[in-house]
Amino acid sequence: MSSTTNEAPTAPIQLSRKPPGGPSVGPYPKPAESGGQGAPGAGKTACIRTFGCQMNVHDSDRMRRMIQDAGYAEVQRYEEADLVILNTCYVRENAVDRVRGHLGELSRLRREGRVKKVALTGCIGAAEEAQSLQKTFDIDLVLGTHNTYELAEFVGLPTMRETYTPELPGTEGEHSAFVTIMTGCNYQCSYCIVPTVRGRMICRPLESVVGEIEDLVAGGTGYVTLLGQTVDAWRYEGRRFCDLLEAVSEVAPRVWFTTSHPSNMEDRTLRAIGERDTIVKRLHLPVQSGSDRMLKLMHRGYKADRYRRKISVFRDAAPEGTLSTDIIVGHPGETEDDHEQTLRLVEDCEFDSAYIFKFSPRRGTEAAALPGIVPDAIVQRRFLEVLRAVEQNAFRRNQRKVGGVEDIFVRHGATEDGKAIGETWSGHAVHVATEAAPGTYVRATIQSAGPHVLYAQTTN
Ligand code: SAM
Ligand code: SF4
Repeated sequence: MSSTTNEAPTAPIQLSRKPPGGPSVGPYPKPAESGGQGAPGAGKTACIRTFGCQMNVHDSDRMRRMIQDAGYAEVQRYEEADLVILNTCYVRENAVDRVRGHLGELSRLRREGRVKKVALTGCIGAAEEAQSLQKTFDIDLVLGTHNTYELAEFVGLPTMRETYTPELPGTEGEHSAFVTIMTGCNYQCSYCIVPTVRGRMICRPLESVVGEIEDLVAGGTGYVTLLGQTVDAWRYEGRRFCDLLEAVSEVAPRVWFTTSHPSNMEDRTLRAIGERDTIVKRLHLPVQSGSDRMLKLMHRGYKADRYRRKISVFRDAAPEGTLSTDIIVGHPGETEDDHEQTLRLVEDCEFDSAYIFKFSPRRGTEAAALPGIVPDAIVQRRFLEVLRAVEQNAFRRNQRKVGGVEDIFVRHGATEDGKAIGETWSGHAVHVATEAAPGTYVRATIQSAGPHVLYAQTTN
C-alpha cells in the first residue's frame, strides 16, 4: 500500500441485484426445490469451518445454504466430511498460522481417504499466499471473497454470477440474522490487508436491504445485525447510513450494526441510537490509538479529540449504552508517549470492552515496511497495560448495573450449566439461568457483574 493520505470513501460502486449480461441467480434452485434425492450432493457430507469476523460468519452461512441446496448433509467433524470448506481470515498472522495447522491435518486425512475434497475460501483465498498454500496442501478449490459464488458450481449447482444475493440469505436466520449492507473498504489504513482482499466499497440499495429485512422479520427473525467493514460509510443515491438505519429501525424489532469508522460516524446516527427503541444501545467504534501521531501514521483520518467528541455525543444520547473499540498496540513507530496517550484515551472514553491487537505485519501493507519495529517484550507489556485499563473501567461500569431489572434477548439457549446467553437493550452480555428459547425475551435482575459479562436471575 503506497498511499500516504487517508482515502475517505468516495462514490461507491453500486451493485445491481442482477449484473447485466450474464447468468445470474435465475437458474439457482429455490430451497424448496433443492436438496432432494436427485440433488448433485445427495448422500454426501460437508463441513464448514469459519475463522475471523462476523462477515466471514455470514459468508459461511451463504455457503452453508449452497451446500444444503446441493443436497449435502452438514457434519461437524472433518473425519466425516466428503468436502471441507475452510472460510478464512487474513487480518493477522496468527489467524493464518491456525489455518495452516488445519490444512496440515486435512492433508493427512485426505491421504488416509477420510476427507475427499478441500476448499479454501475467504480472505486468505483472495491473498497472493493462497497460490503457495494450494500447492503445498493440494487444495481442490480456492475462492476469494469476490467469487464465493463459484462454490455453487463446484458442488454441482447451476452457475451464479454474484456472491451477494438477497435470494441466498444466511441460514441462521430464524431468530437473529446478519444482513450485509456493504462490502469492501475504501480506506487504506497503514496496517490493514482488508482493502486488498475484500476490494473497494460496494453498497446495496436501501430498498434491497429493507426488503430483505421485511422478509426475515416475516419469517420470525427478531434481531438483525447490519454488517460491513465500515457500515457507517454506506451511502446510496444520496442517502446516508443514518437514513438506512432509521428505515431499518422502523421494520426490525431489534437492530444493531458493526463495524463503524469514526470518520463516517455522524451525530445524527449517534442520537438515533439513543432515541429509537428498536436500536440496541451499543456502539462499536474502533479507535486504534489515542495518539494523533500514530493515527496520522495509520491514515485513520481523525484525531483523538474528534473521537472523544463523538463518544461524548454517544454517551449523552445513550447514557446506559455500551461502547467498545479496537486498539492496536506496537504499530511500527509507536513510542512510550504514544502508548501513554492511548491509555489516557481509554480512561477518558471508559470503554465497556475492547479488542486489543498486537500489531501483525501483513505483506503488501504500508506498515509492514515501516521502520521502528517495537520489540515483542514491549508490545506485550503495552498490551497488558491497555487490557488492564479497559477491564478496570468495564468492571466499574458493569457494577453499576447490579440490582437493575432488564429485558434480555436470549441469543443462545441454555447449556449444561442451565445458563443462557443474552443481551440487554444497553448491549451488555448476560448469563441468565433460563430455559427460554433463543429469540425470546426474559425479564431478569442483574445479580452480579464481571468485567466481561453480567449475571442475572429471572424475575417472576
Ligand atoms: N473496518 C474496521 C475499522 O476500521 O475499524 C476494522 C476491520 S479489521 C478486520 C478489525 C480490526 O483488526 C481492526 O480494527 C484492527 O484493530 C485490527 N487489525 C487489522 N489489521 C491488523 C494488523 N495488521 N495487526 C493487528 N491488528 C490489526
Ligand atoms: Fe478499512 Fe477498517 Fe482495514 Fe481501515 S482497518 S483499511 S477502515 S477495514
